[in-house]
Formats: sequence, C-alpha cells, structure tokens
Amino acid sequence: MIATVSAVGTVGFYVNGKWETPQGRKTQPVMNPATGEVLAEVPFATEADVDRVVRGAHEAFLKWRDVPVVDRVQPLYRFKALLDRHALEVAAILTRENGKTADDARMEVRRTIQMVEVACGMPTLMMGDSLNDIAAGIDCKTIRQPIGVCAGITPFNFPSMVPLWMYPFAIACGNTFVLKPSEKVPLTPARIVELLHDAGLPPGVMNLIHGGKEAVDALLHHPLVKAVSFVGSTPIAKYIYTTGAAEGKRVQALGGAKNHLVVMPDADMPKTVEAIIGSAFGAAGERCLAGSVLVAVGDAAGPLLDLLVKRTKEVAVGDGSKDGVEMGPLVTSDHCKRVAGYIEKGVAEGATPLCDGREHKAGASHPSGGYFLGPTIFDNVTPEMTIAKDEIFGPVLSVMRMKTLDDAINLVNQSPFGNATAIFTSSGKSAREYSSRIEVGMVGVNVGVAAPMAFFPFAGWKNSFFGDLHAHGKDAVSFYTEQKVIMSRWF
Ligand code: NAD
Repeated sequence: MIATVSAVGTVGFYVNGKWETPQGRKTQPVMNPATGEVLAEVPFATEADVDRVVRGAHEAFLKWRDVPVVDRVQPLYRFKALLDRHALEVAAILTRENGKTADDARMEVRRTIQMVEVACGMPTLMMGDSLNDIAAGIDCKTIRQPIGVCAGITPFNFPSMVPLWMYPFAIACGNTFVLKPSEKVPLTPARIVELLHDAGLPPGVMNLIHGGKEAVDALLHHPLVKAVSFVGSTPIAKYIYTTGAAEGKRVQALGGAKNHLVVMPDADMPKTVEAIIGSAFGAAGERCLAGSVLVAVGDAAGPLLDLLVKRTKEVAVGDGSKDGVEMGPLVTSDHCKRVAGYIEKGVAEGATPLCDGREHKAGASHPSGGYFLGPTIFDNVTPEMTIAKDEIFGPVLSVMRMKTLDDAINLVNQSPFGNATAIFTSSGKSAREYSSRIEVGMVGVNVGVAAPMAFFPFAGWKNSFFGDLHAHGKDAVSFYTEQKVIMSRWF
C-alpha cells in the first residue's frame, strides 16, 4: 500500500500541502485489470471540495508568483531526483492499476521524468524579447507572467506521464495547480504527487483531487480557475473546450484518435512489421498514438501481411507484471467488452479476420479474472465500416489496400481525426510528400509511435485537438503565461 492510500483503502486528496481522507463521498473501486482484484477505493470530489481546493490554490498563487523563477525550479530539481530514485516503484504501481507491461510502464516513467527536466529550464524558457531604441530613447521588452490557478484533467492510459505534461510547466511558470486524474487510475498520480510533496514544494502550489463529471464541471465553472488542460476522448475534449472557453478560460483539450500507418512496397518489411506490432498492440492499443488502420499501398500487402500475421500470433498476452509478456489486459471489464463488440461488428460488416483476439487463450473469461483480449487483424476493411472510422482504443488493426500513395493520402485526410500517422518506405521522396501533404499533427517516418519528447509540442490536429497551444515544449510556456509588452522612456 502507498502512503496516499489510507488504512481503510481510500485514495487521498492532496490539498494545501496535506493528505486528506475524504469521508461520506461517493466512491468507486480501483481495479487491477490483470486479476480483477480491488486495489483501493477512489472518492469523488464534490463542488464544495473543488471550491475549497481552488480557493487554497489561489491563496498560494498570490505568494508563489513572486518567488523568483530560479527558486521556483529548485523543488523540481529535487522532484526529478526523487522520481529517478522511485522510478521502478512508480512503474510497478502503474502496471498494477493500468495493466500495461512492466517495460512499457518504465518507459512511461522515463518520459514523465523528462517533463520535469525540461520544466527545470524555465529561467531560460520564460525569457522575453527586448529591443532598445525602437524610437528615439524608447526601449521595449516583453515579459511573461503566470496566470493563476490552472487545472488538469487526465485520462487512464498514461497516469504517470500525461499529468506531467501539465503541472511541472505550470508550476515553474509561477502558477498553482489542481489535478483531477482519471478515476480509473488514481494511485500512480497520487504516488507522484507524494514525491513532489517530499521535494518541498510550498503548500497549496500543487493539489490533487479525484472524481468525475461533478468535479470537472466545478473546475470549468470556477471563476478562480484561469486555465484548463484536458487530455481524453474527443466528445469530452470538445465539451471541455466549449464550456471552458465560454467561461473565459484558456483551454487546451487533447482528444481521441484514429491513426493510419501507410506501408509502401519499398519498405523494409521485417523492421516495418516490428514497428507495426509495437504501434497497434503495444499497451493493448490503448494509446492515442496507436496505429489503428494499416494502409498497404500497391503490392505491399502480400509480403507485409504474411510476416505481420505470423508475428501477431506470437504476441505474448498476459499479466503485464510478468516477464516476457508483450501485451497486458484492457483497462476495465466494460472496455474489454466494448472492444470485443467492435470485433463482432467487423465480422458482421464483412471484414476478414486474419487473427481474432477473442480466440486468444487469455480471452475475456480468463480464470485470473483479468480483462484480456488477444491482438486482432482484419483484412479487406472498407472506409464505410465502423471499425475503419471509430476510435476502438484496443488491440484491433484494420487493413485497407490502396493503389497509390495519392490514394492513401486522400484516405487519411478524410478522417475527422488528425492525431498521428506514419509512413514506412525507403523512398525519401514518398516520405517527404506524405509528411508535407498529410493533415495530421504528428508524423512518423519509419517510426510507428511518433511521440514527441518533452521539449517538442504534442500536436494533434482536427478532432484530436481543441485549442491553439499544444501540450509541453515551448507551447506549454506560452499556455501557462500571459505576455506583457513594456515600453519605457527615461526623462
Ligand atoms: P475520457 O474522456 O473518458 O476521460 C478523460 C477524463 O475526463 C477523466 O479524468 C474523466 O474523469 C473525465 N470525464 C469523463 N467523462 C466526463 C464528463 N462527462 N464530463 C467531464 N469529465 C469527464 O478518456 P479515457 O477513457 O480516460 O482515455 C482514453 C481517451 O483519451 C482516448 O480517446 C484517447 O485517444 C485519449 N487520449 C488522447 C491523448 C492525446 O494526446 N490526444 C492522450 C491520451 C489519451
């Protein structure tokens, strides 16, 4: 048990520098998806909880904004050292509540730490511009100032990394923060906030609550919340963006995805197949960057599918905490049934299953009680089929065949989503043409999961992103600060 879980098994709120065990709130069990075991109970914050937390964060902001930036990053340096020291422990908690494999969880924690490393550079990142003598004796400079209480609402699939796309940057910029992580996976973010507390951040600068719609709505409508960062599904992202913007807040809302992997006949097939396996079936397909539609161009399909199907049948599915497992369970029983429903729909709509995840030996009725499905590949998928259009968010790959690169580009550009895509080719010309014409924010060239690192922005387009400034990188500095222009003349 981690310290943030009380003796009765309730995950705490972190408010004004103290851990609280809320009483009398609605609760929900936190499950281990590999076993169906209950790990803890998560309490749901009420509107009154949110009001109290936000007011405390606002009081803390009035002092924190005046702390020099070089001093503001000192607790973050200590936080980074603590995260390094506890990385394996955090990764183990992550696997237990989310299901992803131990290796994948460790990689996520590494990416998490990189966010803190970049935010520690805030003294440089926050610098403005200046120019003397813009007119006779008049100098001009820009400065960046923090905006106030910022809120973060995050999804279940990256419980360690996604919250840190937000708060290290917001805090280093001089803001205070209220995080409301996914109620399905509250233990990982709670353990990380515990490390931030140990790093000596002043009370009220970082706060953590749990819950669902009531807590989110209270944050969206609270007048002291100045900025909202959201990551999750498209319908909720749209709701967060429109509601927050109508309240006059700045909002960045990252939504869902349907990512296409385009394979040209000149691709290195064995290496391409390994990249596709990682992209489509890594984290059981529960990544917003997961490859979901495989577009085979020209005569690529033959050699590609022979290798891909053979390799897919070898993917080791099981409890992600065990050695040698390549794919863990889906996050909840309901989600597992939903993904199995999409496989049924694919068959009913006439696609050809080359591998059917429902037949996997660790299938949905696994004796461990876990929520397992094997990887699924459908061939002969057409654009109007549900499996070609909807975000499934599971280990299901739909194969479509296109005659030319032009046809592939037109197909991908018709998608309402624009999160990520990849092209596999040995032709620089094809890669350049694809990267330039494709209406998608993150493009991989022979890279199956084009995940930008902390110093670049996470840049979805279309229905995968609502807002202007993206997550992390320099965009985060612009998002979490207000710019001011100062013009001076001395008599
Ligand atoms: P979700 O939209 O169900 O939940 C995300 C957050 O919103 C959670 O904190 C949840 O409590 C809250 N929420 C849920 N329903 C709400 C409502 N009606 N009103 C207010 N708040 C609500 O998403 P999820 O299932 O946790 O995560 C998976 C989704 O997130 C996928 O669609 C995936 O593509 C997306 N995602 C996107 C990115 C990206 O960078 N674009 C990254 C990770 C995940």
